[in-house]
Amino acid sequence: MGTHISRTVAEGLAFMNFIDGKQAEAASGARIEVASPSDGKVFASIPESGKEDVDRAVRAARRAFDEGAWSRMPAVERGRCLTRLFQLVERHGEELAALESRDTGKPVRQGKADVTATMRYYEFYGGAADKIHGDTIPFLDGYTALTLREPHGVVAGIIPWNYPLQILARVAGAALAMGNTLVVKPAEDASLTAIRIAELAHEAGIPEGVFNVITGYGRDAGAALSAHPLVDYVTFTGSTLTGTAIQQAAAVNNRGVTMELGGKSPQIVFEDADIEAALPVLVNAIIQNGGQTCSAGSRILVQRPVYEAVSRGLSERFAKLTAGPHDADLDLGALINRRQAERVAGMVAAAEAAGIPILARGSVHAEAPDGGYYFAPVLFGAVDPEAAIAQEEVFGPVLAVTPFEDEADAIRIANATEFGLVAGIWTKDGARQHRVAKRVRAGQVFVNGYGAGGGIELPFGGFKKSGHGREKGFEALFDMSATKTVVFNHG
Ligand code: NAD
Repeated sequence: MGTHISRTVAEGLAFMNFIDGKQAEAASGARIEVASPSDGKVFASIPESGKEDVDRAVRAARRAFDEGAWSRMPAVERGRCLTRLFQLVERHGEELAALESRDTGKPVRQGKADVTATMRYYEFYGGAADKIHGDTIPFLDGYTALTLREPHGVVAGIIPWNYPLQILARVAGAALAMGNTLVVKPAEDASLTAIRIAELAHEAGIPEGVFNVITGYGRDAGAALSAHPLVDYVTFTGSTLTGTAIQQAAAVNNRGVTMELGGKSPQIVFEDADIEAALPVLVNAIIQNGGQTCSAGSRILVQRPVYEAVSRGLSERFAKLTAGPHDADLDLGALINRRQAERVAGMVAAAEAAGIPILARGSVHAEAPDGGYYFAPVLFGAVDPEAAIAQEEVFGPVLAVTPFEDEADAIRIANATEFGLVAGIWTKDGARQHRVAKRVRAGQVFVNGYGAGGGIELPFGGFKKSGHGREKGFEALFDMSATKTVVFNHG
C-alpha cells in the first residue's frame, strides 16, 4: 500500500508520524489502535504523540521556515509543488478514498468525493500562490508606501475526523501557498490519510520540515501544539468547546487563530418554493457523511401553507434511507465511533421523551456487521425552535422541521441559535431572496440550493459560535498571511 507502512504489527498497519521529511515513532513508543467504524475491528495503529513529539515537529517547522527554503521560494515554484501534490492525490485517489472510508466509516462514494475536493484544494491553491499580492498606497509627497503579504511562520493545524482529507487540504493548501510551514495534528479517530498526504507532499518536492504530521489525542498532542511558543498561528476545525480551549491556549502566546466550529444551519422553505427541487437537497444536506458535517442543514423551517407537503415529502424520503458498511455504499455509512453513536441516540431519545413527534425513520441494513456504529436517520416534526434538538448540534442524521408564519418569523427563528455557519433559502421571489440572504446571520447562504458541491473557491466560515476567520477561496490566503507596510522616504 505504499511507503507509509513501516512495519506490520500484530493488530494491523502501523502508521508513523511524519516529521522533518521522515517517518517517526512517538518518543514514548505508545500507540493508539485504529478501528473501522464499519465493524469496530482494529486494523491499524498510529503513534500516541506527546509533548516531546510536538516539540520536535514544531522545531522542524520553525527551522524550515527560518531557513527560507519554502518561505522564500518564488511563489510560482511553491505553487508548482502544490500542483504536483494535486497530481499525486489524483494518482493515489483510489487508495486514499478506500483508506478514508475504512478509517471513518463513510460510504466509498463519499470517500471518492472527498478525494475530488482534496484535489481541487491543492489545484486551486497551487494556482493561487503567485496571484496574491500587496498594494501601493497613495501617501505623502516624497514617500512611496506599499504592502507585502507575508506568511505567519509556523502554522499549527488541528483537524477533526469528519472530513480529514478535505479539511487538511483546505488548511494546508492555503497555509503552504503563502509560504508558511505546517504542523498538523489530525483527529485521533481519523489520522491515516493525513500521514499519507504528508508523504505525498514530500514526494511533490515540498522541502523537509515544511509539512509535518503528528498523531495523538487532543488533550495531549493537540493541547501541547496549540500552546507551543514557537507556533505563530493556529487554525482549528472542530467543536466549539474545543475551539474555546484552543483559543485560550493560543492566547498565552498572543497568537492569531482561525476557528471553524459547529453549526445548526437552517434551510428556509417559503410557500412559493419549488418543493420537488428542494426535497432531495434538503435530505442530502442532513444525511451526507451521516450528518457529521459542520454545515449540515439540520433545521428545516417551512412556511405554514406548505408545511404538510414538505413534511410528507421528507418523510417519504427518510423512510427509504439506509445506513450500512462503507463498502456497501448505501445512503449513509457508520458514525465515527461508539461515543458518537451513543451521543446521537441519547439526543434523539431526549427529544422523543420531550414529546417531539418522529415523522419518519430510516433503517440500518440487515447485513450491517454487529460491531459497527450505525444509526438510522430520524426526522422530527413540529419542532419548537427553542427545543434542544433545534438548538444543539447533533452531528448525526437527525433533522428538525419547524413551521413558520411569515418572512420576519423565518428570519427570527433562523437566527435564534448560537451558531451561524450556513443557511439555505428556497423561494422564487427575487426580492425576498436578497432580503433574507442579507438578514440571515451565516457565513454562507445558498439560494435555491445548498452546499454547491463544496465550492472550493467560495469563502467559508462562521458568525457567532460557529467561529471566525475565513477558509477556502482567496480569503483563506489573507488569513494565512499578515500585511506588512513598507514606507520609503525619498526626501
Ligand atoms: P473535536 O473538537 O472533538 O476535535 C477536533 C480536533 O481537536 C481533534 O484533532 C482533537 O484531537 C483536537 N482536540 C481535542 N481537544 C483538544 C484540546 N484540548 N487541545 C487541542 N486540540 C484538541 O471535534 P470533532 O469531534 O473531531 O469534530 C466535530 C466538530 O467539528 C463538530 O462540532 C463540527 O461542527 C465541527 N466541524 C466544523 C467545521 C467547520 O468548518 N466549521 C468542519 C468540520 C467539523
